[in-house]
Order: sequence, then structure tokens, then C-alpha cells
Amino acid sequence: MLDIDQIRNDFPAYRKKDGNFIYLDSASTSQKPEFVIDAISSYYSSYAANIHRALYEIGEKATDKYEKVREKVKQFINVPDSHVVIFTGGTTESINLIAYSWGSNNLSNGDQILITEMEHHSNIVPWQLLCSRSNASLNYIPIKKDGTLELGKLKENILPKTKLISLTHQSNVFGTINPLNNIIDEAKKIGAITVIDGAQAVPHMKVDIKKLGCDFYAFSGHKMLGPTGVGVLIARKNILEEIDPFMGGGEMINSVNMDESTWNEVPWKFEAGTPNIAQVIGLGAAIDYIQKIGIENIHQHEQELLHYGLDLLDQNKDVTLYGKADNRGAVIPFNLENIHPHDLAKFLDTDGICIRAGHHCAQPIMNKLGVSATARASFYLYNTKEDIEKLVESIKKTVRIFS
Ligand code: PMP
Repeated sequence: MLDIDQIRNDFPAYRKKDGNFIYLDSASTSQKPEFVIDAISSYYSSYAANIHRALYEIGEKATDKYEKVREKVKQFINVPDSHVVIFTGGTTESINLIAYSWGSNNLSNGDQILITEMEHHSNIVPWQLLCSRSNASLNYIPIKKDGTLELGKLKENILPKTKLISLTHQSNVFGTINPLNNIIDEAKKIGAITVIDGAQAVPHMKVDIKKLGCDFYAFSGHKMLGPTGVGVLIARKNILEEIDPFMGGGEMINSVNMDESTWNEVPWKFEAGTPNIAQVIGLGAAIDYIQKIGIENIHQHEQELLHYGLDLLDQNKDVTLYGKADNRGAVIPFNLENIHPHDLAKFLDTDGICIRAGHHCAQPIMNKLGVSATARASFYLYNTKEDIEKLVESIKKTVRIFS
């Protein structure tokens, strides 16, 4: 059991709002604990210096703090080696890095990239761009209306020409947690590279990279109590050593001549220029905070909220719920008869309730459901059953106003 009063007390956003803050949009971005804000502010106020170059005390301190976050990530999600933890700007950048650096030399005319209809746009568009550069084709594992993958024909979807399979660990629309092991095993049989979008998974459940055995894994800091502008890409070391850098610039080189350059070791080969130092340090603090509470405790708390929310919303005949996966994270997409989700979100806001409304950067899912948008409530460690009761009351009020 989490002590929610104590947790809320750690978050300035909750302390300021005097109880009238019902934040149900953590799948979009999370609130930030003071501990994280202080870690960022402390870098700026007491040891702001560039890393890997300054030969003075605060520079060494900044470098040390930054590099230690690789160790924290390694330990948090069981990565084999901290040198395969690359800091990026977020999941989007991590996936673009793969599409560019791996894609430039490993894909050609006639090859196939396989993704799913459940993906966020950031796991669709980089592959579309890559396919148009390389004349490869982009194919999709279909989804069923219940928000799960159609895996009955997986063996037919994965072809000898499939060079890379990329899919989400947890759907940002349905909350579906995908059976990755099956898919990764099938990919391995034909030597295809596997990419997992962990943006919605790492903040909410125990992730174990060694056990998963995928080739790439990406996630963002801002959805897991950390700051915006920082993300992570984990990859197999031999792949990182083989592929080209994503961006060229300072610090990613070993030597630069007028005609050519050689690259720094992994992971620095992929971190060109001055990185997001404060944000990486903030991500480290977020991991410390989550570990203090316990990721399993957070997951269990969210599961209770999910089932409570699904039951309450299901009792309301005006609500259409989407998604029925057995294994599912704390995300509830829904719609109301005759009320556009944007209108609903605006009305809920007048009661201090924040939900997401729109296509959730997942237009192929909206097309499958035959809607242009949905409302979405998502939960995190600071939410309570009372938040959900207030959501349900406010939905009823909105329905009354519209009728
Ligand atoms: N994938 C999924 C499943 C997401 O939910 C998101 C963020 N909504 C992203 C990728 C992109 O993350 P970011 O915007 O932090 O790069």
C-alpha cells in the first residue's frame, strides 16, 4: 500500500493546488517530485559546468553525476552493461537514432520493416522515412478491436525479408502490455533486429532488459517523474559499435582531420555536443525516487486504480470503453455518446480534472476504432480512488449539461 498523502506531499504541484488537482494524464507526462526539481536546480545553482572536458572541481562533479546515471539506468532495468545506455532527448529521438544509424547501412530495396497498428506516431514515422529512403516496405501486425495484437498470423507477418521489428511494450491508448517474448523469439529465428518502445512501460512496471533479449529499447524521462528533454536508448554493444553515429559534433569523436574523423567509444559516439546534463541528472533523481517507493508497489497501486476505474466507468451507460487486454497498464480510453472528447476535457477542466483528449499520436488506432478521437484517463503513483470518483461525477455532470 502506498502512502498517497505522503507521496503527494513530495510533489509541489499537489501542495500548491489545495486538493483541487485531479491529474489523470500521466501517460502524456508525469508530475515531478521536489526531489527531482531540486536535483536539477542544484546542478544549475552549484556545479553548472560542461562535462567530459572541464579540468576543475565543478566540471568533474558534473561529469561524475552525469555518468553515474548510466549506472542507475543499468541497475533499474537490468541492462547488461552501462556502456550501452545512451542518453537522447526522448523516445522519439531514440527511435530516430536507430532508423538513421542502423537504417543507413542495413536496409535496401525489397527488405521489410514490421511494426504494429498499435504504435505511437514516433514508432511509425521514422520507419516511413527510412523506407522511403531505402525502398524497403513497411508492414503492420494488425490489431483487434479489443486493443490486442492479432498474433495468430505472426509467422506469416515475419518474412525472410523482415530486417527489423519494432513495437510498443505498452500501448499509450489501450494500455495493452504486449507479449514481447513471443515476438522477440520469432524475430531471432530469422535474424531480424528488435526494437521496443518502452515509453509507457518503464515508468509503470518492472522492466528487465536482459530477460527481454531485444536489440534496442527506448524510453523517455518525462513520463517517469523526470524532466522533459531526456530519454534513453539501450542497445546491444556490437550493434552500436558497427553502426554509424547519428549526429556529428564535439565529444563523439576520437580524432578529426580535414578529410575524415574517427569515432569515440560507445556510448559517447552517440552523444554529440553538450548533452542535456541537468536533465540526465534529473532522470537519475527520478529513478532514485521511484526505487525508494518501489516500482512493483507503484504497479500494484495502478492496477487497483485501473480496475476500480474500469468498473465505475463501465456502470455508466453513456460511456464507451475501448480495450480489453487481460494484461494491461493503467490507461483507460473512452468516449461519450454525442459529446466530443475535446468538449468533455474542457468541461472536466472546470472541475480541476486533467485528462487527455485527441488521437493520442496514434491515428491508425483511431481509424481502426472508427473514431477521430477518444478521451483518456491514465494513472500514476499519486492518484487515488477518490480521483476516479470525481472523474465519474464530473462526467455525469457533463452529460447532464449536454442533454
Ligand atoms: N511511444 C509511446 C508509446 C508514447 O506514449 C510516447 C509519448 N506519448 C512516445 C513514444 C514518444 O515519447 P516522447 O514524446 O517523450 O519522445
